[in-house]
Amino acid sequence: MPGGNTRTTVFMEPHPLYGARGQGCRVWDVDGVERIDCINNFTAMIHGYAEPHINAAVAEQLALGTAFGMPTPSEIDLAELLCARLPSVDHVRFTNSGTEAVMMALKAARAFTGRPKIAKCEGAYHGSYDFAEISLDSSPENWGNTPRSVPYSKGTPQGVLDDVVVIPFNDIEESLAILGRQSGELAAILVDPLPNRAGLIPADADYVAALRRFCDETGTLLIFDEVISFRLGFHGAQGLWGINPDLTTLGKIIGGGFPVGAVGGRGDVMAVFDPSSGRPALPHGGTFSANPISMIAGRVAMELLDENAYAHLDSLGAQARAGIAEAFAKSGVTGSVTGAGSLLRVHFTDGPIQGYRSAFATPEQARRMKQFTLGLINNGVLAAPYGLMALSTPMTSADIDLVVDAVRKSLATLA
Ligand code: PMP
Repeated sequence: MPGGNTRTTVFMEPHPLYGARGQGCRVWDVDGVERIDCINNFTAMIHGYAEPHINAAVAEQLALGTAFGMPTPSEIDLAELLCARLPSVDHVRFTNSGTEAVMMALKAARAFTGRPKIAKCEGAYHGSYDFAEISLDSSPENWGNTPRSVPYSKGTPQGVLDDVVVIPFNDIEESLAILGRQSGELAAILVDPLPNRAGLIPADADYVAALRRFCDETGTLLIFDEVISFRLGFHGAQGLWGINPDLTTLGKIIGGGFPVGAVGGRGDVMAVFDPSSGRPALPHGGTFSANPISMIAGRVAMELLDENAYAHLDSLGAQARAGIAEAFAKSGVTGSVTGAGSLLRVHFTDGPIQGYRSAFATPEQARRMKQFTLGLINNGVLAAPYGLMALSTPMTSADIDLVVDAVRKSLATLA
């Protein structure tokens, strides 16, 4: 495996910690060291590890078979749950990952509108589809006064760059000016209401409303990428923001710990997938799409996420953000914490975080982040290497105290 494992996201020098097992909010590495897990497989494991209801349901299905060349009732159950929770979603298609969900949403938007281009926010992560990863990590040397289409991977075709319009997150005036120059060619605007890589600050309600208006006026589709943000509320970020997107992409938590993704939305748009009147505008398969293990685990996980569970997660998140902000203030180390609900991100940048550019770390700030997350590891807490933490339902207020204590110790070492 190039670099020693299969995911750039878990690479670490001199080598990553290798996981052995997890229980609740704790994980043990292969050396037997126990830690509180604030990565939760990059936000997917919202109920932590070995949740007994999920395990029991999956064990029952394992004995019956794991994937068929037939649909199963399990996909109907999860689709009904998602449609009930997300009023903007009339129909759902399942995929195996969030990347695929975003890819199918963008292709659906093109198929529905007959237009080639998509718009996305600078610095926002939406998975590995060529079009979705443009300007994911544009840097001061190439970002220009207003956002430009910058390749993420070497070898990105010029055609992809030409068909992706990049807008500055939360900047209404500039975004509308850029979009206005492209209208008529734009199939969709892809937005994450709480973009993790662009600073983990919430989209302003006015910003999202302005994008919704632009889409209504120009026949462009608004796509919410809720692969992560569905963990913010019972009706997703769209429920909290009070906006109905035309399409929504989902993943992570809706698989209950198993591979999953989904695209859902307006019935007339989702009809591009429908083969019942002949060849659809957008044929879509996927060998393991809607496999009953992911569907069943996902349904049980989502049923466990009732309003009480969200309230518990919100309160843990508020406690963690307040504790970490206080730890920064007392340590004298320059930095801040952003986030909402059960998500938070630590920054070592100066000044308030307003979006991707103000959250962008200089090499020295990036070095501090590396030292900080290593300090957390050595004090019993796992966080993503860029400072993201995602909390889980089995955590208690006492666990958050332990997390904040690890932050305090790690900041003290940095100071
Ligand atoms: N969209 C967003 C907002 C994400 O955070 C991610 C994954 N972190 C994806 C899409 C891609 O999902 P996956 O890793 O399941 O392909």
